[in-house]
Amino acid sequence: MSVLDLPRPAWMGEDLVLLSDTARRFFLEECAPHYDRWEAQGAVDRDIWLKAGETGLLGAEVPEAYGGPGGSFAHDAVITWEANRAGIDGWGGPLHSAIVVPYIVQYGSEEQKQRWLPRLVSGELIGAIAMTEPGAGSDLQAIRTTARRDGNHYLINGAKTFITNGQLANLIVVVTKTAPGEGAKGTSLFVVETDETEGFRRGRALDKIGLKANDTSELFFEDMRVPADALLGHGEGEGFVQLMQQLPQERLLIAIYAMGRIERALAVTLDYVKARQVFGQAVIDFQNSRFVLAECKSEATIAKVFVDHCIERHLRGELDTATASMAKYWVTDLQCTIIDRCLQLHGGYGYMNEYPIARMYRDARVERIYGGTNEIMKVVIARTL
Ligand SMILES: Cc1cc2nc3c(=O)[nH]c(=O)nc-3n(C[C@H](O)[C@H](O)[C@H](O)COP(=O)(O)OP(=O)(O)OC[C@H]3O[C@@H](n4cnc5c(N)ncnc54)[C@H](O)[C@@H]3O)c2cc1C
Repeated sequence: MSVLDLPRPAWMGEDLVLLSDTARRFFLEECAPHYDRWEAQGAVDRDIWLKAGETGLLGAEVPEAYGGPGGSFAHDAVITWEANRAGIDGWGGPLHSAIVVPYIVQYGSEEQKQRWLPRLVSGELIGAIAMTEPGAGSDLQAIRTTARRDGNHYLINGAKTFITNGQLANLIVVVTKTAPGEGAKGTSLFVVETDETEGFRRGRALDKIGLKANDTSELFFEDMRVPADALLGHGEGEGFVQLMQQLPQERLLIAIYAMGRIERALAVTLDYVKARQVFGQAVIDFQNSRFVLAECKSEATIAKVFVDHCIERHLRGELDTATASMAKYWVTDLQCTIIDRCLQLHGGYGYMNEYPIARMYRDARVERIYGGTNEIMKVVIARTL
């Protein structure tokens, strides 16, 4: 049940209602009981990936011919929303399914699809995408990782940082320069199966303020030798266009994470303010609490309607990057505002880690930074003025 009184969106057919029930049960029964331990160990258990695969929650967009369910982004949207509504924010499944897998589905050769997609659907392969470097985040064109052809191989050299799923991933889409002097045209993507690759090294799992159950990491490539057919696309130099084409989906996905968390924040806060007694009455009975929650519910409803509109447009292939950037920036900002107000309504208990709102406060903050910062979203939107 949602705390928002909205009708089921038009994009969500009966099959998606069933998927949503399956996903909710999986996250509440298989993930939630282990979440504190995952946070303490800084990563989810590897076997949760295999269980998610068995339950049909990975690689929703993979066609049946490659072992997938042949779904669409609508399936990823439902799974992502349920994961976040259940508080399973640190599991990198949505990034794997809706960000990494589409690169192979859309740009992979027949041979690459057969080699990787079935194992991405089963959870045997865990995906990551490595764009960011110590010296290049917002300015992706400044990346310095190089890939140099060497016979039937490429040698890749460089360092990446902040990579989600970085310790567990064994299939990584790596952004490189094959022609360093040529700006965007010199960018190429490689798909690296790390289990069999010389010259690949994982650095530290980074110590973050939130999302502690995710193994966000540094990665190093030292003469990393990959076969020439690890290149994605028809030839060198297609990487920047591939990255740009995937932006609307990546940004919309982050807005959906935020929407799921907003709903969770409202749900846990409503439960809390109804139960907590102060000055002989429930916290929800103070006019201030009612007004704050009325504002939150109104803004959350407006956000959900806009996110549903973006999902519908995306499913028709009509979502442009600027509109997706509006969703990413506005809903992730709103998420932080709403979670902050909800924490305040918890009083001191909101600052205690044993209350879900405390972890939500820590976990939400990064959404305004990753996937392109919200300032970069505004740069993109402003170009349309
Ligand atoms: C937990 C976490 C997970 C991540 N996961 C991944 C991942 O899986 N893969 C990956 O490749 N990356 C990942 N990232 C990296 C993330 O995408 C980058 O941190 C982000 O793009 C910003 O880059 P930066 O950190 O280098 O900041 P910088 O680019 O150094 O930005 C610093 C500040 O300058 C501002 N700024 C920059 N350019 C402009 C401009 N033109 N106008 C106005 N302001 C500007 C920014 O908004 C920011 O406030 C992750 C990051 C985190 C924290």
